[in-house]
Amino acid sequence: MNCFNHPNTPAVTFCSKCQKSLCHQCSNYSHPALCDECNTELKDKALRAIYIELLLYPIAGFLLCYFAYTKIFKENPQFWIYIILFYGGASVVAGWQYITEFSQNRQANSNKIIIREENPIITLLGKLVKLVLASQIGFFLLPFRLFKLRKRYLALKEN
Ligand SMILES: [Zn+2]
Ligand SMILES: [Zn+2]
Repeated sequence: MNCFNHPNTPAVTFCSKCQKSLCHQCSNYSHPALCDECNTELKDKALRAIYIELLLYPIAGFLLCYFAYTKIFKENPQFWIYIILFYGGASVVAGWQYITEFSQNRQANSNKIIIREENPIITLLGKLVKLVLASQIGFFLLPFRLFKLRKRYLALKEN
């Protein structure tokens, strides 16, 4: 079989996403092999995830400040309290994303097939536990998370 893009070149592999036959040049030298279209699509998807995450940080920070302003403080607190609250809100997002990626990687690395029970109460409890955990570890993780996102972004833009 020959390459989908180059009818005269023998195919060496298939795109792992759309199953198109690919020659060595067209396989992007990636593993698993991807055609140009699928490669671009995945890259765009990854970039979009970064943009969305970056948007979530200030939103969460602002929401926590707003909540504290309207529900907790009777008089105007000092400005630095808002800065800490803003950081706190953003750090929940960082912790949440970290836990999500951590558990995804663990699942990908284990050979066991996990059958999930779709019990809404357990799912909700799991999310609550995750939220509490995220707010605890996120406080320390936020700078590292932002650094990692920046690295990921540059890597995606590079190739
Ligand atoms: Zn493809
Ligand atoms: Zn080709």
